[in-house]
Amino acid sequence: MRVAIVGGGAAGFFLAINLKEMCPVADVTIFESALRPLRKVAVSGGGRCNCTNTFRSVRSLESVYPRGARLMRRLLKTFGPEQAYSWFESHGVPLVVQADECVFPQTQDSQAIIDCFLCHARNLGVKLILQSRISSLGELADFDAVCITVGGQPRAEGLQWLADCGLHIEPPVPSLFALSIADASLRSLMGTVVEQVEMGLPGTKHVASGTLLITHWGVSGPATLRLSSYAARHLHDCQYACPLRINWLAMNDEQTLSLLHKTMQEHRRKLLSSLAPGGLPQRLWHHLLQRALPERGEKRWAELSRRDLNRMVNTLSNDTYPISGRGIFKEEFVTCGGVSLADVNPATLQSRKNPRLYFAGEVLDIDGVTGGFNFQAAWSTAYAVATALARRDDLSQ
Ligand SMILES: Cc1cc2nc3c(=O)[nH]c(=O)nc-3n(C[C@H](O)[C@H](O)[C@H](O)COP(=O)(O)OP(=O)(O)OC[C@H]3O[C@@H](n4cnc5c(N)ncnc54)[C@H](O)[C@@H]3O)c2cc1C
Repeated sequence: MRVAIVGGGAAGFFLAINLKEMCPVADVTIFESALRPLRKVAVSGGGRCNCTNTFRSVRSLESVYPRGARLMRRLLKTFGPEQAYSWFESHGVPLVVQADECVFPQTQDSQAIIDCFLCHARNLGVKLILQSRISSLGELADFDAVCITVGGQPRAEGLQWLADCGLHIEPPVPSLFALSIADASLRSLMGTVVEQVEMGLPGTKHVASGTLLITHWGVSGPATLRLSSYAARHLHDCQYACPLRINWLAMNDEQTLSLLHKTMQEHRRKLLSSLAPGGLPQRLWHHLLQRALPERGEKRWAELSRRDLNRMVNTLSNDTYPISGRGIFKEEFVTCGGVSLADVNPATLQSRKNPRLYFAGEVLDIDGVTGGFNFQAAWSTAYAVATALARRDDLSQ
């Protein structure tokens, strides 16, 4: 049986190697459009490749896979992070788990993964054809099975050839990006890090929490990236122009009010500006005071009226800024959208419309937040396809 793999990236190589290991007689060819394969692996994780995550601090799969959580739940049972960890270690790549549960090669260099893939693919006899862009299935008529692993495509035209085969494509839009905010007073706090905020888009259900970083053009950091992922389609549809609500202490109104009361009781004589509640950075606190009580001069905590306190609560937990555009996150983004999951068999990732076709990796409408979840999706989907192909009766013929 001849198997074509279109796309020599993370999913393509993982699929090819696993298929050859399960079924050595399979004739496997990877077609890669670029001069060099695995380019995204090379630049991933800042050149270190955050290749998976322990998932130990994941409360729900929906929180790390805004698209595709249901399918991932199924696939992770067969090939999850533990299997990925063992796979890399048994294929010569020792790994290390960081305190934040992200997993990297011990060498802290993505080249370790690339060398592993290239070496095993070569030793197993996988054929690699570089600078070969496939743009129609007709070009692969000689193959019994065609695995599409072309990755996320930033524009719908990149997947038109698949749409032409009758596949339903969820329109691709970017995910994982920083947000531009024009407000000069916020931007002047550039470099400020707030450990635990909750941020959301008013009028939607999209909320994310975590660390926030104020940059010279807006906001970034884990909470922002998560929000951009959860709300990727909404933000695209409103052209990256909508209000952003920041809850600076990640507390509800009652908790915030009680914190302010406590600070007031314990530090009655202190100047408001000299004591930031909840450990907020001092510069940010000055900015928030200015927004909450702009007409007030310097006051002591004891001098706050009930109305002042309410205004402070509102600013601390409902501070709103207009988003003015999409920023970039170290040029790192994934694509939300791709081949609709409704079109594939969830066990085999085979096309329901064209049984010759299989899909793995980011070309599917699955995407994760940062932390190694996108590579884990590539490994899990590729493994599912390799297993499905290896079980086909016609494979050994
Ligand atoms: C800068 C950056 C850093 C990242 N860091 C991380 C990280 O640390 N951890 C993490 O989990 N995720 C990370 N990601 C996301 C991760 O890289 C992707 O989710 C993952 O690479 C998807 O694997 P894939 O094989 O599906 O697609 P890709 O890795 O994109 O591979 C697709 C391949 O197909 C080729 N191709 C495309 N079209 C055709 C065609 N028509 N014919 C032939 N070949 C074609 C492409 O050239 C490419 O080589 C990062 C992404 C970026 C951009």
